Amino acid sequence: MTQSISVKCKLIVHQELRREIDRTLEGFANACNQILTTAKDAKCWNVTKLHHLVYHPVRLSTGLKANHVCQAIRRVVGNAKVVKQIHKFRPSSISLDARTFKYDESKQVAGITLISGRFNVPLKIGGYQIALLRGQTPTSATLNKTRQGDYFINIVVEIESEPTGKTPKVIGVDLGRTDIATTSTGASWSGKHIQATRDSYSKTRANIQSKRTRSARRLMRRLQGRETRYQKWLNHNISKQLVREAKQLDATLAFEDLTNIRQSLNQLPRNKTERRRTNNWAFYQLRVFVAYKAIVAGVRVVFVPPAYTSKSCSRCGHVHPETDKKRRTPSGENAHGSVTRPKSYRHGKKFNCGHCGLEHDADINAACNIAALGRSVSSPESPGFSCRLEGQLDLFPVALL
Ligand SMILES: [Zn+2]
Repeated sequence: MTQSISVKCKLIVHQELRREIDRTLEGFANACNQILTTAKDAKCWNVTKLHHLVYHPVRLSTGLKANHVCQAIRRVVGNAKVVKQIHKFRPSSISLDARTFKYDESKQVAGITLISGRFNVPLKIGGYQIALLRGQTPTSATLNKTRQGDYFINIVVEIESEPTGKTPKVIGVDLGRTDIATTSTGASWSGKHIQATRDSYSKTRANIQSKRTRSARRLMRRLQGRETRYQKWLNHNISKQLVREAKQLDATLAFEDLTNIRQSLNQLPRNKTERRRTNNWAFYQLRVFVAYKAIVAGVRVVFVPPAYTSKSCSRCGHVHPETDKKRRTPSGENAHGSVTRPKSYRHGKKFNCGHCGLEHDADINAACNIAALGRSVSSPESPGFSCRLEGQLDLFPVALL
């Protein structure tokens, strides 16, 4: 099994090269915007057909290399699939392929084709990135410029993920709202502090937002930065401990596949505060951190379907029946608004099984269910790895320094 992940590396860029990169970024954004206009006018979202329509005019007007234009077409079509309405491309990122990018491990440089030719750009990277890039010949990357004016390259690599054994030990991890994470082995990380911090930031933000002055906006950005850094630090910490425990026990880590966490958590009517709390990328970032650290440590990670993990009993497997099956869609959503909220055995922090009488911590019970699902996923007969994370890691590269 292989898994694609994206390794974020800082580039060391001198003044002259900076201008070259900026020109290329401008050209690429320009190309994307032209292609987008043509695609919208012609209602054409097929890469090959669009290529015939735009290739020559775009090359002429932007002066980009052939492969830059091909990548710009892919970028526009790819974005159109993910985002419903694309407004405009900003000159902050360019996609590279095997012809416009090469990673040189012996010198730790990236060969990058820009608008005026090829440049070797040194990478400023640490142990994590070096370990992930070792022995790789990556064929795709994205060059990005941050708002602060720093340049990064996200290099996509394929990592071999070896199964650990025949009867794998599995640690289930439940990501929750009151506690950030709870494992089937009983460890948990309280979310109280981060929640309080986030709530207070949010209140301050709402205050500042009403002012709309330049200094208010600046203050807002600073606050956001601080919140983001705190969350990142916390997630690094939790993921480090999770991976360390799995490594010590020679176990696989199992998570719920939370690709649709926003929808599933927001199915039931909630107040505004709760919605804001769940609509953040914190869980997602935690899973990404775990995935990266697990690869470096040689720990396996599996993702299991999230249905019923908090509503089933981890001892007898009994699931509380839905109250009104006919009125619910297959995905579990209520088609007519949530009038018939299903009862579950979960009452706050307690889980009570009406069938076998088990009384357990609700989060640990859920984590045990995840571990059980993880064992079935990671047994040799089953297909194993869920590949859902592949695309997501590409969309959300993280720095590991
Ligand atoms: Zn039970």
